[in-house]
Amino acid sequence: MSVIVHKYGGTSMGSIERIKNVARRVAKWHSAGYKVVVVPSAMSGETNRLLNMAKEITPLPHERELDMLASTGEQASSALLAMALLAEGIPARSYTGWQLPIYTDNSHTKARIISIDHKKILDNLNDGKVVVVTGFQGINENGDITTLGRGGSDTSAVAIAAVLKAKECLIYTDVDGVYTTDPRIVSEARRMSTVSFEEMMEMSSLGSKVLQIRSVEFAGKYRVPTRVLSSLTDPLIPLEEEMISGTLINFEEDKEMESAVVSGIAFSNNESRITLLDVPDTPGIASSILTPVADANIDVDMIVQNQSVDGNTDFSFTINHVDFQRTVNLLKDVVIPAVKARDLAIEEKVAKVSIVGLGMKSHVGVASTMFKTLAKEGVNIKMISTSEIKTSIIIDIKYMELAVRSLHHVFGLDAK
Ligand code: ASP
Ligand code: MG
Repeated sequence: MSVIVHKYGGTSMGSIERIKNVARRVAKWHSAGYKVVVVPSAMSGETNRLLNMAKEITPLPHERELDMLASTGEQASSALLAMALLAEGIPARSYTGWQLPIYTDNSHTKARIISIDHKKILDNLNDGKVVVVTGFQGINENGDITTLGRGGSDTSAVAIAAVLKAKECLIYTDVDGVYTTDPRIVSEARRMSTVSFEEMMEMSSLGSKVLQIRSVEFAGKYRVPTRVLSSLTDPLIPLEEEMISGTLINFEEDKEMESAVVSGIAFSNNESRITLLDVPDTPGIASSILTPVADANIDVDMIVQNQSVDGNTDFSFTINHVDFQRTVNLLKDVVIPAVKARDLAIEEKVAKVSIVGLGMKSHVGVASTMFKTLAKEGVNIKMISTSEIKTSIIIDIKYMELAVRSLHHVFGLDAK
């Protein structure tokens, strides 16, 4: 019988009652004959609680010890779930990442999975057991525990599904799928029954927080059929119904033909824009500005350099707001003296709104519809960037919701 991987998020594991419900749902799949591997997150709030305690000890906790600490949330929830399964009469066994092991690289707090030894999982599955594996963690070459970055249990689950060649990886969460945009902002947002892998990549990197982006990358690389669905339904709903619920990430290129031009609107209000004024327009300037930024591990998103006037030009880029102060300090201390910029113009918080759709590959005029719509609403666009399947703009935060709503409407995404 096929292998199936279930992943349960923090909310789904959020209380003893919910853990018992997860056990009932898993028991249903097990009784239907599936070989089930379950990857739980820590109970909701637990990872934050642990990290906050660390910060109370010292503002910059040692990263090895942070991972040692943060990984315990998943160990606790995995053991509780295995107990709940055993109490349901289902043979089950839980393992931490290091017991299998799941090997990662050495970058503590944001490690990448390198390989997974799946022998123990297979032995237990063949023995008729449900296998519970802690999400979010692994072990590096020194034998130290590592964690995969916030939201990393998604990636654990998809990676395990990949090595086991699972029929599907089911990501159970507190929403019932992936929506055309955030339903808290646009009440007409619709759940998509399928979304292409490429669109999901863009949506995840542009601010839709349903899946950790690395899990989507993994799903794409190993073509793991991955479904996002609700854990808050009755755990005993018929299997057939559950198997077609939620949103399935698909990999079929020919889906492009029938897909909507724009399938989703992503947004984030966590961006900062920085402009270096009057830098000399000479070879090497972009590198002199952005190399120190990259060396400081600061992610740069959009970059715009203008036409030069009298040999000087303005150079703008955006970053995530968490890096704002660090970036400004670095520019003032290192970059401005080196490139002889006249001044720095900063906007500490701006919004990014993006339209995403595979159909943009083959349709013209999509971006111009976007700009026309925003013009009609009086929204000023500060920056634009495009790729084959998305157009992103930077605007004032106060216009973000208006922009998202009007774009959702104009591209025909509103629910009937
Ligand atoms: N517990 C970890 C977090 O809160 C990992 C996860 O939930 O996916 O980020
Ligand atoms: Mg999550």
